Amino acid sequence: MGEAGLASRESLSLLTPSPDGPLTLVVECRTDPRKRGDAHQITFDVDWQVHTPHDLEAERIALAFGGYLSCISLVDQVAPALAELAQLIGRRRLPALHRRGNQEWRLALPVVGCRCEGKSFRTPELAAFHARDIRHWVAQYGVSARVLAHLAEDVARAHGITEWVGSHPARSLVREGSGLDDLWQAGLHPEYVADVHQAVWCDGPPLPTRFYLGAAYLGASCDWLAAIARATFDVDVLTWAAWTVCDLDRTDPDARLQWLGLRLPLRDIAVLMSGGYTRASAEQLAEVTHQDVTRAASQLAGWQAAGCTPGPGDLAVLSRAGVDPWYRPSPRAVDRLMADVAGLRAAPTRTQAALVLAVTQNVRSAAALLRLGIFEPFAANLTLEGTP
Ligand SMILES: [Zn+2]
Repeated sequence: MGEAGLASRESLSLLTPSPDGPLTLVVECRTDPRKRGDAHQITFDVDWQVHTPHDLEAERIALAFGGYLSCISLVDQVAPALAELAQLIGRRRLPALHRRGNQEWRLALPVVGCRCEGKSFRTPELAAFHARDIRHWVAQYGVSARVLAHLAEDVARAHGITEWVGSHPARSLVREGSGLDDLWQAGLHPEYVADVHQAVWCDGPPLPTRFYLGAAYLGASCDWLAAIARATFDVDVLTWAAWTVCDLDRTDPDARLQWLGLRLPLRDIAVLMSGGYTRASAEQLAEVTHQDVTRAASQLAGWQAAGCTPGPGDLAVLSRAGVDPWYRPSPRAVDRLMADVAGLRAAPTRTQAALVLAVTQNVRSAAALLRLGIFEPFAANLTLEGTP
């Protein structure tokens, strides 16, 4: 899968300082950081290089002897910060975000001393909003907030950028009336929305705001999402896929479609996928335990929901040991067992512990077997049968 949806943004070029390219502005030029200075013009050229009326080489030498000139910081720090920030203000680049857990969004590159350092945001919108916050850029570049904020406003004004999108043909591609504005707040350009719709389901219905957010920030490629749309024609399934995309989708892009061929709750499929299970695992389990595939899949999902990833062979052993096929490990009991055996020199994996627990059906006996180094359900069962 590509970089978080960036591949489909080819119709959007980088934002230049003004719609014509260069931008000429008046700034206050200080020769003493504590005193007001005179105003003069500066020009940002198309690639954000800034031109001032100064002989900067000479000014740099003066700087070495204790002089001060605000235009040097303007050239060295403010202009590079502005060039990057402008791409987010113009929604020409997506901020790099990472999701951890359901409601934890972080900036991929948090800034030391900024509120994003070690903190997460509840939604991608809030994280994207922070990525455009002047304070974030001030913390990162150590520039004057006053100067950067003024210049950022000047650039936005030159392009007519506001907090709202206005009328745009992409409105018809988003299901919710205010969806395009919400996506703009979350850092998505209407052209990006149009590109994603075109790439994923060009003759399809309007798609939910949530779909576009997932497609932008969770790393599913448009090609893969298009394959899901073609196979299901289902907006909700497509949105679910964008939000639950996982490693298995990247290594085996057909795995999810194969699961969707079974009548399973979507939640079970997401759990199975996150454990790396393919439909073949369920088919194998069904064969060795003589049950139907759907039931075998739901058995694997039950184990995975407790954080355990047994192979079909392991569960077949349980079946032969007489363990009820409806048995599902209790996450809390497995936690307790893991805590019990945490000090062992050779500690079992969570899956091994849960399999032994399934045989003994109680934590204390399972812990006793694990302490003896019996980590396999087959050996655990033999030991139990040999115990009067
Ligand atoms: Zn920050």
